[in-house]
Amino acid sequence: MIQQLTIIGVGLIGGSLARALRAAGAVGEVVGCGRDEQHLARARELGVIDRYTTDPAEAVRGAQVVLLAVPVGAMESVMRAIAPALPAEAVLTDAGSTKGSVIEAARRAFGGLPANFVPGHPIAGTENSGVEASFAELYGGRRVILTPTGASRPEAVERVRAMWVAAGAEVTEMDPAHHDRVLAATSHLPHLLAFSLVDTLAKMDEKEEIFAYAAGGFRDFTRIASSDPQMWRDICVHNEPALLAMLDRFEADLRNLREAIASDDGDYLQKVFGRAKAARDRFCDNE
Ligand code: NAP
Repeated sequence: MIQQLTIIGVGLIGGSLARALRAAGAVGEVVGCGRDEQHLARARELGVIDRYTTDPAEAVRGAQVVLLAVPVGAMESVMRAIAPALPAEAVLTDAGSTKGSVIEAARRAFGGLPANFVPGHPIAGTENSGVEASFAELYGGRRVILTPTGASRPEAVERVRAMWVAAGAEVTEMDPAHHDRVLAATSHLPHLLAFSLVDTLAKMDEKEEIFAYAAGGFRDFTRIASSDPQMWRDICVHNEPALLAMLDRFEADLRNLREAIASDDGDYLQKVFGRAKAARDRFCDNE
């Protein structure tokens, strides 16, 4: 049971955690913090939080656990704002989609890595943003990856693990750099491709006609291009080396497909498509 949970960034991710912990009876008071008072008032109206402030330092006073669920580009400024007020015994965690950059932000903001800091990343989400999009079941059966730093206290890691388990998630641990490589491949590159494809089509003169004929396949493939542009800008910029490495691999494979089309090499195309279908059927169809 967490007596006071402070959530800085009461949007889809932070709001859903508050709802899930409330439903599980695993939290006492939830204090919300953000930049826009109207968003916070709406969160209170929806019963997601009990009270709010736009001052991060005031928000963390009295907290046992503090969750940062702001875009990764905003993590450092929020950490700097809470640093002087964070209670010594409070456990600090985050939900940012990149882990190396958030850990470096903490090192700079706190002048070293706090023992009660446990970085984390829920592998759950939708293309919608804001507290209105949050729901209690978001984390049910989904994975949460914790990437403890060398300085993270085992008791703090346990506290964060227990919080996510109470929200319905399955918790695993990973090295931060490994997390960033895995997520560059499975999440960050696909989002970049979806945004890029839709933008390419949207710039064409015949775009009205093209989108009028967009059917199921196009919608499935590009759903994630409706995600928040600022959040994804931040993720791409803050996972640069891992994302560039994946992009290079993908570009090389795409060039090979182009050459196969240009040289009528149907065998090559079928081989690639066959391998891809087998991999997807094996790894993704049981979800
Ligand atoms: P969201 O719905 O847009 O919520 C972000 C919240 O942060 C908003 O309520 C916003 O409220 C607040 N905020 C933004 N900048 C702030 C700042 N400088 N100071 C204080 N509050 C600020 O986004 P989300 O999808 O919940 O994502 C939150 C975090 O979770 C991100 O780091 C993201 O990478 C990560 N994540 C997202 C997903 C996903 O699928 N969406 C999945 C896993 C992890 P105001 O505008 O009122 O300030």
